[in-house]
Amino acid sequence: MAEQRKPLGYFIGHVNDSEHRYKASSGGIGTMLQKHLLSTGQYGTSITFQFNAKRCMYEAKLIHTAEEVNICGSIYQDINIAQFVRDHIREISNGIVVSCPPCQVTAIRNMLNKEGIPCFIISFCCSGQTTIEGTWKYYELLGIKKEDVVNMQYRGNGWPSGIQIWLKGGGKVYRDNWTQPWVTLHSTNFYKPKRCHYCTFDTSYTSDISLADPWLKDYLDKDKIGNTLFLINTGKGQETISSLSQKGQIVYKQTDFNSYYAAQRPNIEKKNIRLRQNTKLELLTKTFEKPHINSFFTKDLRRMQLFIKIRQRLQQKSIINHIYNLVMGIIQRIKNKCRFLVLSHKLGGHDGNFNICSGVVANNPECVFLGKNVCIGSNTFLNTVTFYKGTHYNPVIKIGEGTSIGKYCTLSSINRVEIGKHVLFAGQVHITDHSHGYEDINRPITPQKLITKGPVEIEDDCWLGYGCEILSGVHIGKHCVVAARAVVTKDVPAYSIVAGNPARIVKQYNFDTKQWEPVKRQ
Ligand SMILES: Cc1cc2nc3c(=O)[nH]c(=O)nc-3n(C[C@H](O)[C@H](O)[C@H](O)COP(=O)(O)OP(=O)(O)OC[C@H]3O[C@@H](n4cnc5c(N)ncnc54)[C@H](O)[C@@H]3O)c2cc1C
Ligand code: SF4
Repeated sequence: MAEQRKPLGYFIGHVNDSEHRYKASSGGIGTMLQKHLLSTGQYGTSITFQFNAKRCMYEAKLIHTAEEVNICGSIYQDINIAQFVRDHIREISNGIVVSCPPCQVTAIRNMLNKEGIPCFIISFCCSGQTTIEGTWKYYELLGIKKEDVVNMQYRGNGWPSGIQIWLKGGGKVYRDNWTQPWVTLHSTNFYKPKRCHYCTFDTSYTSDISLADPWLKDYLDKDKIGNTLFLINTGKGQETISSLSQKGQIVYKQTDFNSYYAAQRPNIEKKNIRLRQNTKLELLTKTFEKPHINSFFTKDLRRMQLFIKIRQRLQQKSIINHIYNLVMGIIQRIKNKCRFLVLSHKLGGHDGNFNICSGVVANNPECVFLGKNVCIGSNTFLNTVTFYKGTHYNPVIKIGEGTSIGKYCTLSSINRVEIGKHVLFAGQVHITDHSHGYEDINRPITPQKLITKGPVEIEDDCWLGYGCEILSGVHIGKHCVVAARAVVTKDVPAYSIVAGNPARIVKQYNFDTKQWEPVKRQ
């Protein structure tokens, strides 16, 4: 289940005035709140939406009385409320009641706070808006000329209701909520504002009240007039709902997060989905935004349906993923090649191709010798010390053909660290042929000379486990295994397995029995 953010409470209810309830989107709580706050004089300004037949679209209108509120239901048309408030900020008197999508709540609140204008913000659960071109395309798909539309409503004649279009000459077209061709048109995402593609809001927890449809079995089966599922987020919201209830204007009951989750699951989950698919989504969106692709697929309903199928296939079969990995693989190879070209001139010597991952540091590359096909994992440190506290050294790190070194390893030398062929390193392995002198107790350790017990040699075919340490003077014979975290302080004969701190031989290969056999502790 999704992470739970906390409002003051979850509720379901409706207004008592049956005409208002029928005309509103769900239970009419949104417009009743607006009317109540204006008529009681708590706020002097609000915004309503009216259909402009000439422009064939809804427009926001600044109002100052409850009588001016148009019960228009939910308007799925993309209207920038924040911009509208900004443009009309000087016309606001005695605070404002604003209804807006979750993505605009913070901007509007901050803008009004800055001007010292009190506000009551109503928001809603939001699955996305549709550009006005989307609605015009809808008319086209229904065979309606937009010049013939005199009024329309996306929602609001009972529940869950649907789109109503009034035509010149008195005709009326009606389509149930979420039916064709709206479903296809909306599902193409061609008519979604860009911000909605990347939206992670289910609702707003910073508005005073947040409204939603109760998409729950009980309501879908029995409710034909409408109920609103709402979240109270602030004390101001709580007070207003209580006062509406005391006046007998609304009825409501408490519910909980589980019913909110059941009703709004796609909206709540979209945050997790977006986070998972961001790169893929960006690639898809950018590709299908191209004008020629867009105009081909939006020609008619069949092409839109074809487009949805193609997109589903692309997502299901992870072709986008495949292409993405392919491109990243090529970029990685180019980067490796560049590192090869840069380092091959600086190294003490190499026998041909080698692969060095990102973040590898070699402080004196001329002291490093690499065999053919050596691979060095990211962030490994090849530390050859040529001078320390007045003493010169001639360090060498030699790595044999086919050896693979894991991530975050350190190979440190003032003398000689020699790794054989086809040695396998896990991550964070540490090999050193020296340590700090500490004997003089009258001086700190840092200025004392480095000391070495001799070179480190690791013969062919060994396997060094995660986080193991190989210390100065150690010789490890052919085909040995060093267990994870082991600290090797003494020579290890060939074909042995060592473990522990200090490491001891736990198994050895018996050439007579052809078995790896345990070695008893002495
Ligand atoms: C674009 C959009 C997407 C939505 N998506 C979902 C969803 O995915 N799931 C869900 O459960 N509910 C969604 N809703 C909310 C739902 O449709 C109802 O708004 C909600 O149930 C409130 O119902 P009501 O009857 O109480 O509101 P009403 O009494 O109908 O009041 C609605 C209020 O919202 C205002 N309003 C309408 N359209 C807009 C707009 N575009 N911008 C700003 N204010 C507006 C009106 O002016 C009015 O004040 C969406 C609403 C919109 C506008
Ligand atoms: S889906 Fe998100 S971005 Fe789009 S209008 Fe709704 S809240 Fe804003």
